Amino acid sequence: MGGELAEAAALHARLMVEQQVTDLYTGDCRGCGECCSRFLPMSLLDRARLRAYVRRHGVAAHAPWARLDLTCPYLTDGRECSVYEARPEVCRAYRCDLHARGELDGFTGADRAVPVDMREFAESIWEKTEGDRG
Ligand code: SF4
Ligand code: SF4
Repeated sequence: MGGELAEAAALHARLMVEQQVTDLYTGDCRGCGECCSRFLPMSLLDRARLRAYVRRHGVAAHAPWARLDLTCPYLTDGRECSVYEARPEVCRAYRCDLHARGELDGFTGADRAVPVDMREFAESIWEKTEGDRG
């Protein structure tokens, strides 16, 4: 294990103790997949562990579900994590109470919502339109 990876492993071990991140937590996850994002903060150890797991088990990413698919590619069509044993720490640590709060049924207008790149959206608001130029 390289120096950087060993350092990440030591940090990981400390986090497991300090933040009580363990696989024993069962939470209230109902497997809706709403929290499984395409963008996840991953440590070096997260990446090394996930890469090794995917190669060892030949896990395939799901084909994009939309033109701009913002879900984690390891979420299956059945809304399960296909890399569960090797999922990143952020996924392990997430404590969800959406079900307990009765908020797993989407939001007003969810049936007509489309994926939006919020960065592009934010920047587009201040872009000059043809009519503005002059
Ligand atoms: S949003 Fe909550 S219930 Fe849905 S997959 Fe994530 S943790 Fe589970
Ligand atoms: S690695 Fe698994 S738990 Fe984490 S976001 Fe992807 S599908 Fe969800």
